[in-house]
Amino acid sequence: VPIIAANMDTTGTFEVYDVLSKFKMITCFNKFYSLRDFEERDTNPLDPNYFMISTGINEQNFCNLCDIVEATKAKWICVDVANGYMHNVVTFCDKVRATFPDCIIVAGNVATREMVEELILNGKVDIVKCGIGPGSACLTRRKTGVGVPQLSAIIECADGAHGCGGMIIGDGGITCPGDLAKAFGGGADFVMIGGQFAGHDENPGEIQEIDGKKFKLFYGMSSEHAMNKHYGKMANYRSSEGRLVKVPYKGPLEVTVRDYLGGLRSACAYINAHKIKHMPKCTTFLLVNQQLNTHFGK
Ligand code: 5GP
Repeated sequence: VPIIAANMDTTGTFEVYDVLSKFKMITCFNKFYSLRDFEERDTNPLDPNYFMISTGINEQNFCNLCDIVEATKAKWICVDVANGYMHNVVTFCDKVRATFPDCIIVAGNVATREMVEELILNGKVDIVKCGIGPGSACLTRRKTGVGVPQLSAIIECADGAHGCGGMIIGDGGITCPGDLAKAFGGGADFVMIGGQFAGHDENPGEIQEIDGKKFKLFYGMSSEHAMNKHYGKMANYRSSEGRLVKVPYKGPLEVTVRDYLGGLRSACAYINAHKIKHMPKCTTFLLVNQQLNTHFGK
């Protein structure tokens, strides 16, 4: 099932993997899991089909990646940086490809055709992760003015990737099951989800109660909260491109997953797509300014 939990602290976790793998969905583990974290997880061995190992692009990241891939027999590697347009990303991917010729290599994030093609042709990656600014905990567009509307990015990037034998992940911006159908309909081969998979029993952190309503915390990986957590402080030359949000507590993750899968199945039935990969050719997009009849409230 080509749905992937984002490699964020709150969603790219072993507990999320335990739920999603039962549905044959993939969990992209966060970069902060060490070799020891993988070794100490002795219950329920990880199935290489259903997890990705994430890495940054420096030397130390590469050494950690090699150790973790060897220990876990990982099949998927995700080279993940906020700005996939740096030249180092392409050279790093090429090195990962040479080291792990049999792994499926994912790299990103980018949001335009040219860079998708560059990563596939010169970085030798299989799948490009696409999305600059659509994330629910992301402030890049406000802080920098940079980004591409996510459906447009998916349509353009998928076209580029499919033209040179690669695939894409539409990463970020999913707010409801209908968005998932639109991402696949636009040509995404996989969709990555963060915020919608947060706020459950299986996500880390305590349930907070404010005015009788329950919440869990969810935060962007470039937020000040994440920077303080992982690096002790936020470098003063940069501004925070992510935020900390309170997500309504939603109970077991399995309930949300079933809701998403049910919506996706029904979308396929409406458009007469027998498989997810047939969705683009069964989809027609119309520009609308309202989707839902909100007469009786949202
Ligand atoms: P969501 O499903 O919550 O809309 O989007 C998840 C995606 O948002 C992640 O996979 C990642 O690409 C992106 N993201 C996560 N944290 C941050 C952040 O702090 N800043 C930005 N710009 N993007 C983020």
